[in-house]
Amino acid sequence: MKKTTHQPVERDAHDLVLRSLQLEKTLESSGESVVIKDLDAVITFWNPQATALYGFTSDEALGHSLRELHAADLSEEAYSRVLDRVRSGKPSTATTDRKKKNGEIVHVLIRTTPLFDENGVLVGESTITRDLSDIRRAEDALDVAKAALKEKLAANRNLKTEVASRRKSELAMRDMNLAMERTVQKMKALQVENETLLNLSELLQSCTDWEEANATVLETTQRLFPGISGSLFIYRESRDVLMHAVSWGDSSLTSSTSAQPEPLHPEDCWALRLGRPHSVNSPGAFRCRHLHGSTQPSICLPVHGQGQALGLLVLSVDADEDIKHRLTALASRIGPGFANLKLRESLRSLALRDTLTGLYNRRYMEEALKRLFLSSRHSDKPFSVLMIDIDHFKRFNDTFGHAAGDAVLAAIAKCLKNTVRTTDFACRYGGEELVVLMPDTSLDSAMERADVIRVAIRESSITHDGQTLPACTASFGVAVSPTYGDNTPDLFKAADAALYRAKAEGRDRVCAAEASTPALAEASKAVSKAASKAV
Ligand code: GH3
Ligand code: MG
Ligand code: MG
Repeated sequence: MKKTTHQPVERDAHDLVLRSLQLEKTLESSGESVVIKDLDAVITFWNPQATALYGFTSDEALGHSLRELHAADLSEEAYSRVLDRVRSGKPSTATTDRKKKNGEIVHVLIRTTPLFDENGVLVGESTITRDLSDIRRAEDALDVAKAALKEKLAANRNLKTEVASRRKSELAMRDMNLAMERTVQKMKALQVENETLLNLSELLQSCTDWEEANATVLETTQRLFPGISGSLFIYRESRDVLMHAVSWGDSSLTSSTSAQPEPLHPEDCWALRLGRPHSVNSPGAFRCRHLHGSTQPSICLPVHGQGQALGLLVLSVDADEDIKHRLTALASRIGPGFANLKLRESLRSLALRDTLTGLYNRRYMEEALKRLFLSSRHSDKPFSVLMIDIDHFKRFNDTFGHAAGDAVLAAIAKCLKNTVRTTDFACRYGGEELVVLMPDTSLDSAMERADVIRVAIRESSITHDGQTLPACTASFGVAVSPTYGDNTPDLFKAADAALYRAKAEGRDRVCAAEASTPALAEASKAVSKAASKAV
């Protein structure tokens, strides 16, 4: 039967159609854009996904070359590369951009497979295309996100840098504030120091004696340089040595051994020799001999006034430039104060002392006599007076000349000053008559002291104009109050009477005053006691 009999050719064609339909269905439902083209890139198959991808319907696509479709934008060169690929018979994979019908650019992954007929002849190429736009968008979004992140990181870095630089500025500002605070503190301290130095100058100007001046220097130095020990030395009148005036803190700078600090010889101090501050900070450096081998750091500062060194400050300190500067300022304030004190002292001395002998003058003697006499009354203590007259002084003058007589008077005065006690007052009463006021001294002690002086005078050797002069002698009258006088004129009268007796009895001797009667002496004593109680 014809119905059941099939020609092999028909069957093959049928199979081919079936297979083709099946393939078409498969390709249409593959989910991917599938395009088949011949060797001229003319479309022979275009599935719905290709339409969805490129916008061209299959009717618009079939029979048209790529050039007319989504490859319209390609350059000649690029398009010929596409044709070359189609004709190469080789599979390929690439990502590229294609233009959609509506002009949009779509980014795609193209995978091509060469197509051969049953004889193995290349007839075209199938292309499976995947829209990578989403991926591209995602990539772009990722790039944007990356860029944003990068920007943020950069901003963050900037912020960090900004924070760090702000912190740095804050630290610098804090350091600056601290430095300013330190400067303000330093300036305040400087102001206080200047005021203290000014105060020192004022105080020194008003000091009446060296004790007060030394105490002022001590207190000021301790206030300005707390914890630093030191000593002050002052040139004595003869300017051969400096006498220790005062010390504070550790006393090792004054004397190594003796309790009574030793005088300081100018040649033992570098500062005095150089005329400027001399500091020693390390052992073995140029140390002053007066430091007695001390290994402590120290500084010596000459105290200048009236164009000469008047004293020396010695401090036990490792003096840096700042301390040196401050100490120099201190010494420069002390100098004029000391000079002023010295000047006033010599003016006062001129007013108090006799110029030839250096003994207290008569005016001062009278004032001192009143004061001492009253004080002896108060304390109920004896008060003695020595009256001294040089023997045959007229004859001496006549023989050796008035100038030689002056030299003898000065030498006898010196003798007197060296032999009286520090509590006694040696005075020139007038001419060749001298007086010694001896508070708190009994008649016996006064007689003894008078004899010491007498011997010293007669044994003194005096040279004048290269000529050795014969020693003079002197006569002494001694009276004690209240025994021989309840008032100063009576006391002097009694001493004068005793001196007259010494002259009369042969000179070069000491005579004590005599009460006219013991009863008078007793009465005198009683009156004196009553008077002292009344005062
Ligand atoms: P007498 O032992 O009795 O005291 O004898 P005298 O010669 O010392 O006594 P007198 O009173 O006769 O003479 C005192 C002399 O002292 C007279 C005077 O020239 C001398 N004289 C007084 N003051 C000074 C003075 O300042 N310088 C000198 N060179 N002589 C003086
Ligand atoms: Mg006389
Ligand atoms: Mg005389």
